[in-house]
Amino acid sequence: MDKNIAGKTMEKWIDELPMIKDIIDTNEVFWINSEIADFKKTDITWAIKKEDIEDAKERLKRFAPYIAKVFPEARENNGIIESPLKDISNFKSQLQDINGRLLLKCDNYLPISGSIKARGGIYEVLKHAEEIAIGQGLLSGNDDYSKIDSDEFKNLFKKYSIAVGSTGNLGLSIGIISAKLGFKVYVHMSADAKEWKKELLREKGVNVIEYDSDYSKAVEEGRKQAQNEPNMYFIDDENSIDLFTGYSVAAERLKEQLEGMNITVDEEHPLFVYLPCGVGGGPGGVAYGLKMIYRENVHLFFAEPTHSPCMLLGMMTKMHDKVSVFDFGIDNITDADGLAVGRPSGFVGKVMENLLSGVYTVKDDKLYMLLNLLAKKEEIYLEPSALAGIPGMFSLYNTEAGKEYIRKNNLEEKMKNSTHIAWATGGGMVPESQMKSYIELGENKTF
Ligand SMILES: *Cc1c(COP(=O)(O)O)cnc(C)c1O
Repeated sequence: MDKNIAGKTMEKWIDELPMIKDIIDTNEVFWINSEIADFKKTDITWAIKKEDIEDAKERLKRFAPYIAKVFPEARENNGIIESPLKDISNFKSQLQDINGRLLLKCDNYLPISGSIKARGGIYEVLKHAEEIAIGQGLLSGNDDYSKIDSDEFKNLFKKYSIAVGSTGNLGLSIGIISAKLGFKVYVHMSADAKEWKKELLREKGVNVIEYDSDYSKAVEEGRKQAQNEPNMYFIDDENSIDLFTGYSVAAERLKEQLEGMNITVDEEHPLFVYLPCGVGGGPGGVAYGLKMIYRENVHLFFAEPTHSPCMLLGMMTKMHDKVSVFDFGIDNITDADGLAVGRPSGFVGKVMENLLSGVYTVKDDKLYMLLNLLAKKEEIYLEPSALAGIPGMFSLYNTEAGKEYIRKNNLEEKMKNSTHIAWATGGGMVPESQMKSYIELGENKTF
């Protein structure tokens, strides 16, 4: 029992942070981050600059004519990969009558790959392709990028390859866009990855390499492969700034959507956003962009499965990627495959240290119950991981830690004006038969 976990025994960790006991027992917890910066009094050093996010936004605009040309489903929005923001009050009223409006950010409807990974993953591949094409003198920033859909460009990109490790959805997004551009692409898949995701990628000509172990191993193998091959580019889900920046573009666009719905976010109208978290890049990027815009008026929470609370343990202990859920005897086995990550990104945890309001955990049963109810009440079909953001609003009102958070931040009187966004991170590509069995699994489960 005196195993050393990042310099301390388990006993010592539990003594210092008693909530760890509940986390180990895989009980649901709601953790508040005491390190959050007080934006009213201070500013922080922004590791990724506003200009970097602007630059990513502009790059995606340059690629929009190409995206619209080769992905018909992206034409409606002129090649800009964005998702709708929907009011789900029907659904909310079935659960509990609490103050504030609940909206769902439907990344399951994102074109190309039907999950949040269509933001960061596709962005990083496009950025890489642009660098190669400009470097070879085939492209300039002022061109109409629809010209990339040609043999000339495919013949260029086929000399290059891309590798990535994934639990499924990152592989889907990177595999699909890379194959479309003409790259050779290798997706290293963890044991959690669903069979249909692998099949779909193989159909598109992607090389899928399967492992019996978890996500961290798949990433490690992808990294290794790329080290040994020239012209191979590894997309590093654990460390990539480009992925993070691609995700962060969502924030400015969300602001426009809120304005379009006449929803105010200010001192009197707080915004709460709940994001399902795996390794951290997707939710981290989105949250980061939102904090930069709304500062003390946005409250950001990450959601993890009770069996994969890697970001929670990393942030609580401040050891980030130096600790894994396995160190604490937790098995990382969850049906929320997109969140089945045992060790968090060290970079994201550190960046979020004074930006994140908290992290909470959710049992798989609850994800299925919510999946079922959302399908019935709103006809929105999500994969299990994507439901994890929904309990956030209810836990905020119903847990001691949540109530304390509201009190401490002087929000009691403002909650009636509050807006809550659950980020629905995926589900758009789930085959019908698989979705049916998900819905059945959520039958007769309680909240
Ligand atoms: C990948 C994924 C997440 C979390 O993103 P990370 O960058 O791994 O934290 C959430 N939901 C779904 C459906 C995903 O595929």
